[in-house]
Order: sequence, then C-alpha cells, then structure tokens
Amino acid sequence: MSGGGAADEESMNTWRDKTSPGSQSAGFHEECGVVGVFNQAEAANLVYLGLYSLQHRGQEAAGIVSSNGDGLTSHRGLGLVADVFDEDIIRRLVGDKAIGHNRYSTTGQTLLRNTQPFVVEYALGSLAVSHNGNFVNAELLHDRLVRQGSIFQSTSDTEVLIHLIAQSHRPTLLERSIDALAQVEGAYSLVFLAENEMIAARDPHGFRPLVLGRFHTGGFVVASETCALDLVEAEYIREVEPGEVLHFRGEEYESLRPFGPAPGNRCVFEYIYFSRPDSRVFGRNVYEVRKEIGRQLARETAVDADIVVPVPDSGVPAALGYAEESGLPFEMGLIRNHYVGRTFIEPRDAIRHFGVKIKLNAQPAVLEGKRVVVIDDSIVRGTTSRKIVGMIRSAGAEEVHVRISAPPTTDSCYYGVDTPTRGELVANDLSVDEICAYIMADSLAYLSREGLYAFRHEGGGGDGFCDACFTGNYPVAVDAGQEHRQMRLFNAIEARNTGSRRR
Ligand code: AMP
Repeated sequence: MSGGGAADEESMNTWRDKTSPGSQSAGFHEECGVVGVFNQAEAANLVYLGLYSLQHRGQEAAGIVSSNGDGLTSHRGLGLVADVFDEDIIRRLVGDKAIGHNRYSTTGQTLLRNTQPFVVEYALGSLAVSHNGNFVNAELLHDRLVRQGSIFQSTSDTEVLIHLIAQSHRPTLLERSIDALAQVEGAYSLVFLAENEMIAARDPHGFRPLVLGRFHTGGFVVASETCALDLVEAEYIREVEPGEVLHFRGEEYESLRPFGPAPGNRCVFEYIYFSRPDSRVFGRNVYEVRKEIGRQLARETAVDADIVVPVPDSGVPAALGYAEESGLPFEMGLIRNHYVGRTFIEPRDAIRHFGVKIKLNAQPAVLEGKRVVVIDDSIVRGTTSRKIVGMIRSAGAEEVHVRISAPPTTDSCYYGVDTPTRGELVANDLSVDEICAYIMADSLAYLSREGLYAFRHEGGGGDGFCDACFTGNYPVAVDAGQEHRQMRLFNAIEARNTGSRRR
C-alpha cells in the first residue's frame, strides 16, 4: 500500500468556507469528485482537466494514477488541482488509462495518506481506486479486517474496500470488486484502475452521481458530473445506472448488474447545492432545477420587498427563479471574491470577525434604502447567514428577508456530503422563528419538502431521492452511535500513524 510523504504531518482546518474559524466539524464524511479515462491518448492530462472542472467537489487534495499497460504511475498532493500538478508531473503520468480524485473531508486533519486514488499491490497486480461517497458499515468491516490481520494506513473508509478486494479468493479483479462491493453498504460512485482494465461502479441506491461519456476517437470517460465531459470534449452517453458495474477492457465495455434492485435514493442536495449548475445530474440540468426550486420558493414564501439578492455563487440560479416568479428585480447586492484561497492572514487587532467578509462584500449602491430578499441554498450552523444579514444592513438595507431554497437542514449526512454533527446544525434544535432571531433577519422562510420536488414535473414527490438531511429518514440504516465511534476509531488511527496527541 502506498504510504504518505513529508506532507503527511501537515494538519489543516476543516469546513470549506471557514466562516467560523475554530469551530471544526466532528463528522468524517467526504465530498469528492472522481474521473476515469480509458483507452485515450494523454489520459492523465484529460483526467487532470476533468478534476479541474470538478474542483467544487473537493479542494483539500487531488490525485491521478495512470497506466500504460505495464504498471501504474501515481501522483497525489494536498491542495487544489492546479497546485498539485504541473506539466512535468502530468508528462510523467504515462499511458492511455488514468483515474483521478478530488477530496474534501472533515476528518479534522488533512493527510496525504488519505488522498486518493489509493494505490496497492495485491495478488493480481497493481490496483488504484477513487471513491465518492461513504460506506455506513465501514467500522464493522474495519474491525473484522483488523481481527483478520489487516493493517490500515489511512483513515478513509475506502481502504476497507481495498482490503476486501485483496482478501477475496475470486480469480479476476472484476469478480473480486463485485465480491467486495456486495459487502459494503451506503454510498459509492467508484472507479478502479488496474494495468489493463478499468471498472466503474455506482451503488444500488444511486446516492452519488456518475456519468459515462465517449471520445470521438473511441475512448471512454466516467466522471461525477457532465461538466468534466464538456471540458474534455467527450460526448455524454448516459448515467452509470444505480447498481451498475461497468468493466472497461480492450476497445469496449461490458455492463453488469450483479446486485439486487434497491430503492432509488439520489441525493437531492446535489441539486440544491453541491453539483455545478452547468452539469446534467440524475438526468436533469442542475441550473434549470435550481431555477425551478427558486420559483417554487417565491410561490411559497412571497414577501413585500424591492429587490432579490443571491448569496453568490450557489444562491444565484434559485434567486433568478425567485425574481422571475415574484416580478422583483434581481440585483447582485453581494459580490464574491473568486480568488479566496484556503488560507488568508487575518489582522489580529485592526478588524475583528473578518469571517465571511473576505469572500463576500455588500454593495451600498445596490442595497441602500431597499427591502431586500436574500436567497441562499442552506443554513447549516447559521454563522454565514448571520454575517450576511449584518453586512446587508450595514450597507444600508431597510429590511432583510432571508429565503432558503431547501427545507431546514436538521440532520447529518452519512452518504458523502460534509455536514457537521446533528448538534451543530442550527435547525436541529431551533425553530424557524428562533433561527430568524439568531441571524437577525426581518423574516426567514424555507422551502417546504413537498415544494422542493415541484421541479419534478412528472410528479412522484421525493420518491427516488434521499433527503435525510432534511427529514432524518435514513434510507440505509445508520447505527446511532456510529458517527461518534467512527471519530474515536479514526482519531485513534490518525494518532497512531502521526504520533499526534489528538483526543
Ligand atoms: P453556515 O454558516 O454553517 O450556516 O453555512 C451555510 C453556508 O454553507 C451556505 O451559504 C451554504 O451555501 C454552504 N454550505 C451548505 N452545505 C455545505 C457543505 N456541505 N459544504 C460546504 N458548504 C456548504
């Protein structure tokens, strides 16, 4: 198993936007982007471009593994895709097959050792894997594997899968992968790469997206979202279906359905926040879905106001829909600095509570004297909304009405979206009125759960979707104590591996 390097000891803050420095998420869930290219010249370069377009799915680490049919070559690093790779590195990643991974996690420490694709040597040769999602039974499998003698190098649930493949007695990688996948529960969109074959798999519930495309020269690409296909100029073929395993070998691929059918549980939060608006996810254009959600929000939560202002960037399509439906003008009252990196130096004394200001600035020229409807996609801890409301008032707004294009986030996600623990979610123990008071808005309203699915013109409500973060209805059972025990377990592994003293 590939180990870490010097950067392994590096430890970083968590929660992507860092609007509340010091408050770290206790969850260990991962958000990720995956790409695989098969039978196409300059595969690593294409995977690099794919990861670049999927940067929104994970900003803490990135990696690519390539194959020229005669061994795997890998490069992984902490940071943004453009920082991790340069021309020389890409040139060294030789071959016409490659897979890649973008990672964002909330383990509390960012470790190179947790960076994917993982690469291992096992009985059948070399194997690399990129995983988006979360196995909800990782802990049980981990304990069993450790009892059987496995030694773990990372704190990622993905490594469990690798051990299961390595321990399987089946004769081929495909059969071993299916054998291993049959034992894991939860969410996965995965790509495996061996010297001469690639396997893509999506869990039977279809929690996380995965699409298939083709290059005009004949090669294939799989990626989390279609925006990756657009950049590498591949033609979209279709989604990898829930429960489907695609086996790429030679010039073609084979589709297998080795698992029994399961109820569809596509993550509705991909539509609300996570995916890029120009992607087609679960068969629908995300921008259009978000606009539709915004229109429904206006129908449900109308208020007397002068302008509609999005929280950029994620609130923009919903705000356009809201403005269209309400007939109010759409204005960019908040401007986003697109160049905010992962760290910035905060002045110690001169300015207090810098927070969200580094990313967003409120424009008095737009907001002064106005009754403003602010549209955002979610309130998690409430820190961001509270600061945004304050900024808009300071810029001279007369009234600030917050509208959220989703139901209240009351529960944590165990299927691959980074959410803080339940207790940290402001909507978990406060009513809408109490949250409104906390964020100091004149009014606050969320979209109803029924209204959320109005974008499905065909009807069907929430059938086929997972919205556990809004309902607490977990479609794949999650052990109540799991999160806590997983944290203890993974902290213990991290402490052992890094010598750190974290508790
Ligand atoms: P908070 O300050 O904790 O309430 O964060 C709310 C902001 O975080 C909103 O503006 C959302 O767009 C954004 N957000 C929601 N979910 C996530 C997530 N899973 N990862 C990163 N940011 C998120």
